Amino acid sequence: MRYLDKTYAFVTNLVFFMETKRVIILGAGISGLSLAWFLKQKFKDKLKVSILEKEARAGGWIKSVRKRSVLLEKGPRGFRPKGKGEATLALCKQLGIEDKIVFASPLSKKRFILHKKSLVPLPHDFFSFLNFPFKGALLSSLIKDLGAAKGQREDLSVKDFFNGQISEVLVKKLVDPFFSGIYAGDIQKSSAESCFPGLFQDVQKNGSFFKSFRKKEKEQKNRFSTAPLLSFKDGMEQLVESLKEGLSEELELNKNVVGVSGEDEKIKVLLEEEELLADYVVSTLPLPHLLPLLDEEEIALSLKYSSLRVLSLLIERESFPKRLQGFGYLIPSEEGVELLGTVFDSFVFPAQDPKSSLIKATLMFGGSRHFERVKKLSEDELFLKGVELLNKHLKANLKVVDREFFTAKEAIAQYPVGYKKEKERFLDEMKNKMPNFFIQGTSFNGVAVNDCVFNSRHFAENFLTL
Ligand SMILES: Cc1cc2nc3c(=O)[nH]c(=O)nc-3n(C[C@H](O)[C@H](O)[C@H](O)COP(=O)(O)OP(=O)(O)OC[C@H]3O[C@@H](n4cnc5c(N)ncnc54)[C@H](O)[C@@H]3O)c2cc1C
Repeated sequence: MRYLDKTYAFVTNLVFFMETKRVIILGAGISGLSLAWFLKQKFKDKLKVSILEKEARAGGWIKSVRKRSVLLEKGPRGFRPKGKGEATLALCKQLGIEDKIVFASPLSKKRFILHKKSLVPLPHDFFSFLNFPFKGALLSSLIKDLGAAKGQREDLSVKDFFNGQISEVLVKKLVDPFFSGIYAGDIQKSSAESCFPGLFQDVQKNGSFFKSFRKKEKEQKNRFSTAPLLSFKDGMEQLVESLKEGLSEELELNKNVVGVSGEDEKIKVLLEEEELLADYVVSTLPLPHLLPLLDEEEIALSLKYSSLRVLSLLIERESFPKRLQGFGYLIPSEEGVELLGTVFDSFVFPAQDPKSSLIKATLMFGGSRHFERVKKLSEDELFLKGVELLNKHLKANLKVVDREFFTAKEAIAQYPVGYKKEKERFLDEMKNKMPNFFIQGTSFNGVAVNDCVFNSRHFAENFLTL
């Protein structure tokens, strides 16, 4: 039987390579670009790859700009070296940009949360642990976690999942704001199984978060893993620029895809003024962009995306309180503020602006809970609100010298409870209707840059056997 399988695979590969197949990738964010890169690495010129991007630029949410020579990130500001970060680091190596990577500074280990309108440092050493107002809850959480049962679980909300392992106080004070920091979402509605798939599985095996983290810590050591976060000297767009250089023949900008349908064995991709036929099409578009392009009206998926308003401020260094130099702070939703948190970027990646006398801070407003409250504010109103909140939280009188705005509409996928099953049904239906059409990007398996790169590499590695 195994012999027959191998022969079949050999013949399939032979037929495949006899004629050059065409793959069209929809969208040139990090998912589409990295996918094209990995396919090209694997198949060389045996596969004709095209990437269609509706905008005049590639990169999607990744956008780094300079203002007064200071680097500002409109989208992601970094990636973690651990876990799936291994795929991003391997990509950097292939692209020859490892030497452009910058490490988050030791100061960035200092993080704060807003508690009763004041900033409280999270424990990062023994003394900060002693001063942490929830140290009792930390200790009781450890006991609760180590005593939690192993075994298979049905999907549940992020809130219920964490409540089952640690103290409810920590869920409100830490899990809730950290979840906002990643997904800009709501822990009561989001799926633990889909948002934290690795942890969800590990906890079924080990029963405990603590044991799962310890095992992971031991596994994940590389020369970058000492830093909590990595970026590039010229910001995250470095990754996009380098991919673009390597994909100059494949990348087609200003190509707005308006329809996708099956055409005999092929897939037809409709642009505003032309039609293309491909053997395979892989969409990396966010689902709200993709679903209207498909003919299949009856295929639906209850995936929503959260939106953010991002305000970057440039602040005179002397007016910034020294004791708060660190990564920044997050805000638990029970504080009732429409601001999710603020990153003090200058202390995270000082190597990006070594000579600047200005401090940059990025304020993230909205998310799935609060976007309605901020979406209609004018830029001036948002600016005034941001500065007022920052002064109040930092107990400071900041001298702001410049600002930059960005709205990230429908930016971050919010996987609802039970999403894994719904997604599997959806993918089965799609496979029946258009077997050579695939969906990648952030619709199913994570929203971080690392998830995008990891998923693209996995897809490319398995492409012929999918
Ligand atoms: C403000 C913000 C901060 C973030 N911070 C972090 C962070 O610090 N770390 C981290 O890991 N992640 C972060 N993320 C998440 C991460 O940046 C994104 O999830 C990731 O960049 C998504 O990449 P993508 O390629 O899947 O999708 P996208 O970047 O959305 O790319 C999709 C592309 O498809 C194109 N497109 C859409 N419709 C069409 C069409 N009809 N025809 C052709 N092209 C089309 C779009 O123009 C776009 O270029 C952040 C996201 C935001 C918004």
